[in-house]
Amino acid sequence: MSTVQLNNLNKKYSDVEALKQFSLEIQSGELFTLLGPSGCGKTTLLRTIAGFNRQDSGTINIDGIGIDNLPAFRRDIGMVFQDYAIFPHMSVEDNIAFGLRNRNVSRQEIKSRVADALETVQLSGLEKRMPNELSGGQQQRVGLARALVIQPKILLMDEPLSNLDAKLRIELREDIRKIQKKLGTTTIYVTHDQEEALVISDRLCIMRSGQMVQVGTPWEIYKKPADHFVASFVGNMNFFPWPFAGLDFHDLKVPTVIEDLPAKTNVGNESEKLIVGIRPEDVLISNSTAKLKSQVIHLKGTIKNISFSGREAQIHVKLIDGNQLVAHITRPGERLLDEIGKTVQLELPHKSIMFFNNKSGLRR
Ligand code: ATP
Repeated sequence: MSTVQLNNLNKKYSDVEALKQFSLEIQSGELFTLLGPSGCGKTTLLRTIAGFNRQDSGTINIDGIGIDNLPAFRRDIGMVFQDYAIFPHMSVEDNIAFGLRNRNVSRQEIKSRVADALETVQLSGLEKRMPNELSGGQQQRVGLARALVIQPKILLMDEPLSNLDAKLRIELREDIRKIQKKLGTTTIYVTHDQEEALVISDRLCIMRSGQMVQVGTPWEIYKKPADHFVASFVGNMNFFPWPFAGLDFHDLKVPTVIEDLPAKTNVGNESEKLIVGIRPEDVLISNSTAKLKSQVIHLKGTIKNISFSGREAQIHVKLIDGNQLVAHITRPGERLLDEIGKTVQLELPHKSIMFFNNKSGLRR
């Protein structure tokens, strides 16, 4: 089990700064994910760690020892690619054994390690198949076995599930997590799929424009986003300006006592423009005549649209001031689907509300 330290990495491609003063420490045995929008520098960072790219400045250590001068094949790193990158003319067995043959491992040991790797990725019995006789998911399992069989210090995975269909992605991401936990190989995983990142990771780093925005556990990232960007990139969130301008205040019970709102003593301060955020699953819908509750902001609106996807539904509500808000309902009842056009009351519990500075985007 190994640690990885990235110290002030910079990488520029002509005029694009792909990595800017990027520093990070990844713990031993951790499944650590780099998550961010397209072009934020995830692949550049992964390839720099692997040794396929060279950083302009900064250093990379594994277990405290610099690897910057080692070529890729001497870094003791396994890599799994988005497009599997397995050899089409070699059987499953030969693909997996390839890295070991290059390392002068004895024939007997190769045989036993390949058999172990096949079992780990649940491909035992398919060793003689050629890649074109495998499904996409099975091909990626070969890619994973090939990376693991060399018993690398670090495993790097670059969007390994992107080419698979939705059901297979869910199945394989669970297997990857199980295998990683069983073997304890420190793993850096790249994805732009936020749900995948939350499910699979011990910790994750949210990246933007070559920089780190926030590092934390899935819970911390989702529940305590550092800023407006993280809050909107990971999961869904409704945003409004605060105070709610242009609303009919008869229909809105604004918290008049600032202390009503948890740990936000300056909310409503004239000098600071804020944005309010609330997750769709925290917005409750009640009958428009329901009794008002304390510690809750009440808003009225009209249901404009309902997207029903079986076990859940997204209710799109237009508020009196024109703002739109989405409420997420789990296990919706059949009657709800007929409620388009109805006026409803929305309940936004104070404890679920987040505040962001309008200019800096930082959460307060
Ligand atoms: P994606 O999710 O789309 O794969 P990413 O987060 O992995 O994106 P990178 O591929 O690392 O992002 O790219 C970071 C930035 O560097 C982008 O602006 C990209 O256009 C640029 N870039 C990457 N590789 C090169 C290159 N070889 N030459 C020039 N610019 C590059």
